[in-house]
Amino acid sequence: MGTGYVGLVAGTCFADTGNEVTCVDIDEAKIDGLKKGKVPIYEPGLSDMVKRNVKEDRLHFTTDIKQAIEKSEIIFIAVGTPPSEDGSADLKHVLAVAKSIGENINGYKVVVDKSTVPVGTAEKVEAEIKKHTDEKFAVVSNPEFLKEGAAIDDFLRPDRVVIGAEDEQAMAMMTNLYRPFVRSGQPIITMDRRSAELTKYAANALLATKISFINDIANLCDAIGADVEMVRNGIGTDSRIGSKFIYPGTGYGGSCFPKDVKALIQTANDFNCSLRIVQAVEDVNEHQKTILMDKIERYFNGDLRGKTFAMWGLAFKPKTDDMREAPAVSMIDSLIAKGAKVNAHDPEALNEAGELLRDRLDNGLALFEKRYDALEQADALIVMTEWNTFREPDFFLIKETLMSPAIFDGRNIYQPERIKKMGIDYFSIGRPAV
Ligand code: NAD
Repeated sequence: MGTGYVGLVAGTCFADTGNEVTCVDIDEAKIDGLKKGKVPIYEPGLSDMVKRNVKEDRLHFTTDIKQAIEKSEIIFIAVGTPPSEDGSADLKHVLAVAKSIGENINGYKVVVDKSTVPVGTAEKVEAEIKKHTDEKFAVVSNPEFLKEGAAIDDFLRPDRVVIGAEDEQAMAMMTNLYRPFVRSGQPIITMDRRSAELTKYAANALLATKISFINDIANLCDAIGADVEMVRNGIGTDSRIGSKFIYPGTGYGGSCFPKDVKALIQTANDFNCSLRIVQAVEDVNEHQKTILMDKIERYFNGDLRGKTFAMWGLAFKPKTDDMREAPAVSMIDSLIAKGAKVNAHDPEALNEAGELLRDRLDNGLALFEKRYDALEQADALIVMTEWNTFREPDFFLIKETLMSPAIFDGRNIYQPERIKKMGIDYFSIGRPAV
């Protein structure tokens, strides 16, 4: 139930291990497209895998909720849980699915909360289903840890699988379902449902903490003339710390970290606990979104009116077309608000940008299929996403095309001295200007 990033990837991977899977969605256009072999998201390897499993008749797509529920033994709830106004996770889609399950259930089912949901949601889903039926069922929590951009690989070879269940039959069915994915010895960690629900938020909050921490250190580096890339290498080689998730930048974005950090803070508030570190993580992230803009404004003496900026990268990270809470969006809005224009390019997110930023098009924002075309008439280049194809561009062409020429690199993908030698002014995050 829910054929988005998580539902489609999970459904396809379960089909690939021999299960019969029906992916359900209320979005008719999405389901129609999938029936014709059109995968609505960019995720490496997904399209081929969907086609193979459809061809072999294990993977089906439908908007017929009733029929899908009736023929399934295990029902995954993988709908969105966006933030409500107070930051807490909005459960309206999850509970709508629970209601449909209650209305159509026709025998014992395992209902799995795959969406990221606050502690206590399994009980709420259970209560909602019970309102509509006397049939037996079990609700289990099975949070998802896949990363967009590497979702198939993460799902097929997870570091671990977390299952929160109090029902023995349900736990056995879930363990059997996941056995093919943990053949290399990764653990299936079983626990109570509340702990499983909290595990997902704790994982995302800790990852977000690493990002905000290094961003804080990067800003200190800027202030004191140190180089955060040196510091990052210096600390990342310590096996207790690790090199992952300590890359400075323009703040974390995406469909998960911002909302999950907010929702965890709200859960803590509800239980009269204060999560001081997690709150600081969020505050640092909000501040971090302004750092590159400050550098741009300083370079242009505070006046961006009539300036045009080429922007490379719109997706919140490489290898995805997802732009939910992407730092590029707040950067585009800030630039337009200051009277500038933005010529943006992304290798995969242009369709998404066309939809999400429709009201900014012809209102300061233009989208370009080719990265160098975005440079025409631009004063400077801003790099917002570290796509591989941006790492080794033709710097001569960049210099010739840009009016100023300057590069503002929000992902530290270039070497400051090399760019400077080319006669391009270069600004990045937490590295001294050369
Ligand atoms: P998404 O927005 O890509 O997909 C959600 C889908 O659910 C949409 O296609 C929507 O039309 C559908 N839907 C909504 N209401 C429905 C209903 N009543 N019946 C059937 N379908 C319905 O969301 P996503 O990124 O896949 O995230 C889903 C959940 O998984 C969220 O809770 C998210 O936090 C969590 N999660 C996401 C990721 C990720 O990387 N995207 C990773 C781990 C966990």
